[in-house]
Amino acid sequence: MDTAHGHPKFFDNVSRYFDRAAALTDHPKGLLEQIKVCNSVYSFQFPIRTSRGMEVISGWRVQHSHHKLPVKGGIRFSEDANEDEVKALAALMTYKCAVMDVPFGGAKGGVQIDPKKYTVEELERITRRYTTELIKKNFIGPGIDVPAPDYGTGAREMSWIADTYGTFHPGQIDALACVTGKPVSQGGVRGRFEATGRGVFYGLLEACSHEDDMKKIGLSKGLAGKSVVVQGLGNVGYHAALYCQQHGAVITGLAEYEGAIFNEKGLDVDAVVKHRKEAGSILNFPGAVNLADRADALELECDILIPAALENQITGENAPRIRAKIVAEAANGPTTASAEDILMTKNVMVIPDIYLNAGGVTVSYFEWLKNLSHVRFGRMGKRFEQTTNENLLRLVEESTGRKLTDGEIKTVARGADEIDLVNSGLQETMITGYQQIREIWRSNDQIPNLRTAAFINAIDKVATCYGELGIFP
Ligand code: GLU
Repeated sequence: MDTAHGHPKFFDNVSRYFDRAAALTDHPKGLLEQIKVCNSVYSFQFPIRTSRGMEVISGWRVQHSHHKLPVKGGIRFSEDANEDEVKALAALMTYKCAVMDVPFGGAKGGVQIDPKKYTVEELERITRRYTTELIKKNFIGPGIDVPAPDYGTGAREMSWIADTYGTFHPGQIDALACVTGKPVSQGGVRGRFEATGRGVFYGLLEACSHEDDMKKIGLSKGLAGKSVVVQGLGNVGYHAALYCQQHGAVITGLAEYEGAIFNEKGLDVDAVVKHRKEAGSILNFPGAVNLADRADALELECDILIPAALENQITGENAPRIRAKIVAEAANGPTTASAEDILMTKNVMVIPDIYLNAGGVTVSYFEWLKNLSHVRFGRMGKRFEQTTNENLLRLVEESTGRKLTDGEIKTVARGADEIDLVNSGLQETMITGYQQIREIWRSNDQIPNLRTAAFINAIDKVATCYGELGIFP
C-alpha cells in the first residue's frame, strides 16, 4: 500500500513484487519466507570530527540472503539513507545476483550523510570508520561480504575501504577482494566504472531485438531510431544514455536535480554534460526546451523512459500520465507496485531493475575473480591468440594471393585484452539473463510481466540452493 506520502515503504514494495511471483511457484511457505526476509541487519552509530565539531553518523549494513557467500552490494551515501531503504536494496541484490547467475547473496550498506556537505578528508574519515565498524562485526571480507559503489560513492571510497581492510588484515593475500569498484591501479577491473550503464544498453538492445514483443507495444524491432528519455545523469544514466545514443537511439529528454530539458530532434549527451559543468545546470541547453519541473520529464512522450536516479519515482500518482512504451529501470526500485499495475493496463513494458541494472554487480563479480586469481584478464592468452590469428591470416594470404594491409592484420588478429573480455562477459550475461526471464514470461499466461518472471527465476534459483544445502529439501 502507498503511504500517506504517496509512497510504499521500500522493503514492503519489494516484498509485494516477491509475493506476486512466489504465488506462482510451488515452493513451501517456510522456504519462501526464509528467502524473503533479511538474514542480518547491522545498524550502528559512530562519531566523526568535522570542521563543525563532533558529529554522530548513522550507518547500516544489511545482509539479505546467506544462501551463497560472500554477500554483495553497494554502499550508499545519502541524507535519505535509512534502514528500510538499505533492507530493500539488499533484497534486490539477492534477486539481481540470482537472475544473472552471479554467485553471491545480496547485501547493501548505507551511510546517512549528504556527501556534498563534507570535505574529502571528512569523507575519508567517515568511510574508513564505517569500514572499521564492519570489520569489528565480521561484516566485510572476500568470502563474507563485499561492498561496492552505489549512489553517492565511487572508486575513491572503495580504495579507502580496501586500504582500511588491508591494514587490519596484514598478509591476507586475497584482501583486495574485500570490495569491488576500486580504481584500476588499486586492483579494480577495466570496465567496472561504466558497467551498469553499459549493461542497461545491452539489456535494451536485447529486449528490442524481439520483434513480436515490440509489435505488442506498438514499436518496431531494434534500438536505433527509438526516442529515449533519461532521468538522472549520474554514472548509470550518463553511460546508458551515451551507449544508446552511440547506437543510434535519439535522446529526446534528460532530467537532473535542477530541472529537465527536451529536444525532439535529440540531445547530444556529452554536450549536455559539458554545458552542465560550465553553466552549473542542465537548463538552457542550446536548442532545447526547459521543462518547468524535473518530474515532468517522466511524463514526456517517448519510446523508452530510463529512470536512472532513485527509488519511488513512478508511483500510483504519476503512472497514469506516463507516455513511454518501455520503462527501462536503470535505478533500483524506481517503480512502485501500484504504479506497475497502472502501467500494465496502459500496455507499457517494464524491464525490471533486478535484471536491467545488474551489469554493475556482474562486472563486480569479474573484479572479485580477478583479485582472487591475482592476474589481469587477458594477460596469459592475448599474445598467443594474436600470434595464432596472424599465422592463420598468413595462410589466407598465401592461399588467396591477396596481401592484407598491416591495418587489416592488426584489427583481425588482435588478442583479447581485459576490457574486451569484461565487456564480452557482460554482454553475454545480459543476453542470457534476458532470454531466461523472457522464456519464463512466455511459458505461462499467468505470469503478467517480465518483473514477475525475473522474481520467479530468482526465487527458483535461491530455493534450489537451499535445497542443495540440505535446508528445506
Ligand atoms: N550498487 C550496485 C547495484 O545496486 C552494484 C553492486 C555491486 O557491484 O556489488 O547493483
